[in-house]
Amino acid sequence: MTAGSRTDRPGTGSDTRRRERPSEHRATEHRATGRAETAGEPDVVPPERTDALRRLRGSHEAAVLAELRRSGGLSRSALMTRTGLSRTTLSEIVSDLLERGTVAEKSAAAEAGLPRQRGRPAQQITLNARGAELIGIDLRRTRLQVVIANSAHEVVGRRECRLPARGGPDERGAAIAAAVEELARAGGLDLGPVQGIGLGLPGYVHDPATADPAVMTPDAARTAAALRRHFRVPVVTDNNARLAALAEVTWGAARGYRDIVYARWSEGVGGGLVVDGRLVYGAHGVAGELGHVSHDPAGAPCHCGGRGCLEGRISVPAMLAACAARGGTPGDAAGLLAQAAAGQEPARTVVTDAATDLGRGLAALAAQTDPECLVIDGEPATLGDLVLTPLREQLAALSLPSASRSVHVRAAALGDNAAALGAVALLLRTAGQGEELPDIPLPAGPSATVHPAAADTTAPVASPPGRAPQG
Ligand SMILES: [Zn+2]
Repeated sequence: MTAGSRTDRPGTGSDTRRRERPSEHRATEHRATGRAETAGEPDVVPPERTDALRRLRGSHEAAVLAELRRSGGLSRSALMTRTGLSRTTLSEIVSDLLERGTVAEKSAAAEAGLPRQRGRPAQQITLNARGAELIGIDLRRTRLQVVIANSAHEVVGRRECRLPARGGPDERGAAIAAAVEELARAGGLDLGPVQGIGLGLPGYVHDPATADPAVMTPDAARTAAALRRHFRVPVVTDNNARLAALAEVTWGAARGYRDIVYARWSEGVGGGLVVDGRLVYGAHGVAGELGHVSHDPAGAPCHCGGRGCLEGRISVPAMLAACAARGGTPGDAAGLLAQAAAGQEPARTVVTDAATDLGRGLAALAAQTDPECLVIDGEPATLGDLVLTPLREQLAALSLPSASRSVHVRAAALGDNAAALGAVALLLRTAGQGEELPDIPLPAGPSATVHPAAADTTAPVASPPGRAPQG
């Protein structure tokens, strides 16, 4: 995968969808190569003059890989026929892919368990299932989630680990690198073919002081630079709630929709907007941040500098405090949710009141963005209708009836892996593999479709819709 490449993939519906406008494509590319992240660091992204060549080569390469994904394995002549590439071009691309370990070449007869024929045996090119191609990272304040996808776009490894409470961006970069390498070692994965790393970070990733979403905050830039130095591949970054939104619209609860509002309701309250199939950033990179819309200008101060923010009213810590203030003893988040699910007061009222507040915030956002689907992520979303019903009621009460009647309100489907998977989706989109990303097979249930050899050091990648564990 090469940053900037794009391929039209027959049979995936790409021809019926809106094509990327050149200016949009440039903007994504810009984010991918990371002007800010390279400041003062050795730049492994090739100079601009080779970009055109890389793009062309990248799209040819993507075409070869897409054919191999579809078919499992092909001879060189079959690849030539299917991709329409010349013998010389195909040979160059295949040599490069072989060298990187992205593909392997095997005798077709041996593959089929047949005895060797006389003469030159027919060779088949196949994707290397053990080759790590895309790495998705979800970096939170105290923990880290890594997923690795191979060139067949199968998730072949995932891991979650705790982070040291203290440590700057360089230490975080080193901790991520160590986690990736340990996961690869444990799963027997080859990191040679890695093409890019997607990095999800909490909070502001793009500097809100500028109007340029390609300018990252210093911390985000340093963490990304540490990773780029270590693995010598492009690193694309974004806010992890926004990446979770991207994953849900690509492979999760909102798959198939073009316009969604995503809310992450957890330790904090964040969100993401997808409009016409694309993530929306806004002028300052904070579009969809519904947690910091003030619901009470005279309310309690918030860490964002505002007052009476939604996050301060409904976040999991705020609900725990509200429950305790009413004489409840929820203990922790799991306790609060268990009590609410069992109908125990005051937990139940605290949770449903918070859902009503969230519903008001979402209704305001929905009234302006007119989504097809609202996705609610985070621990309380696992309560299903207990929180979704008050949300739907607010939506019906506060939105235009014509819009609210047909909007779908759903619990997130990808669980705790959403942001790391979203980082993989961001890599694929940045590589020009567009809005149609049908290729990562995600488990429908525990270990259902995980690659058989997946190195899994945590829970299953995804949980069934409506039962999404979050933390
Ligand atoms: Zn705030």
